[in-house]
Amino acid sequence: MNLIRRIIGMIDYKKPAEIELIKQSAQLVSKTLGVIAEIIRPGITTLELDKAAESFIRDHGAKPGFLHMYDYPNTLCTSVNEQVVHGIPNNKPLKEGDIVSVDCGVLMNGYYGDHAYTFAVGEISEENKRLMRVTYESLMSGISQVKQFNKIGDISYAIQKHCENNGYGVVRELVGHGLGRKLHEAPQVPNYGNKHRGPLMKNGIVLAIEPMINMGKPDVYTLSDKWTVVTKDKKNSAHYEHDVAVQGGKAVILSTFDYVEDVLKKKGEFYVSDESYIAHVPINYS
Ligand code: MG
Ligand code: MG
Repeated sequence: MNLIRRIIGMIDYKKPAEIELIKQSAQLVSKTLGVIAEIIRPGITTLELDKAAESFIRDHGAKPGFLHMYDYPNTLCTSVNEQVVHGIPNNKPLKEGDIVSVDCGVLMNGYYGDHAYTFAVGEISEENKRLMRVTYESLMSGISQVKQFNKIGDISYAIQKHCENNGYGVVRELVGHGLGRKLHEAPQVPNYGNKHRGPLMKNGIVLAIEPMINMGKPDVYTLSDKWTVVTKDKKNSAHYEHDVAVQGGKAVILSTFDYVEDVLKKKGEFYVSDESYIAHVPINYS
């Protein structure tokens, strides 16, 4: 889940024991997304995905982190195609060729984990693969800027530059955030901005970094359900999110896409970190 409203307050730098608890929550989200990878296919509904995620989280002694947060009705946000984020699970079957951003949070031992992966439903178009790939790369490029004494703007700039170099629109209205005892803590982590600007990163900071990237223009609006954010031009959007801490001066990624991608590899389906895919995609790294 992402933040629209302004986050107020000071950055809460965590002790190593707290970061370990956030990692446990983040890893449970990673495993939950792995469950989604197992069952996602043409014909399944996003409500079925939601129920599977809720059962898995509760079976592991945790609570769904989004359920009832700001009155949100479900465990997952499932955003299909032109939906950017905060899509509410429903009874409509997914179709071959859809892309679905699945965002999940858990609360366990008093700490939140929060991350997201955009899935292909069956065979998807080359232009969708490219959008997903570039969005994922922008996340990793943002994470490469996470280190002691860098600033939040260094992350923002890296994400924006990679996506705009590839012709995509960077959503402005929603941002990443700090993470801990609250799902949304200071600082905000925009996916656009300038180098060397914004709050300083120091050991103990924990961030949810989450580029939301549109195939077309950056403009979005919210549907009458008051949750679902969609692109104005109806072109598709992708979303990947990791939880990242600074420890010993360096970035430590607390979440992992390994559970998801091990399953997708076994199923023979598209997964976004596939190294063999890079050669087929024109990407401007400059
Ligand atoms: Mg999220
Ligand atoms: Mg988030």
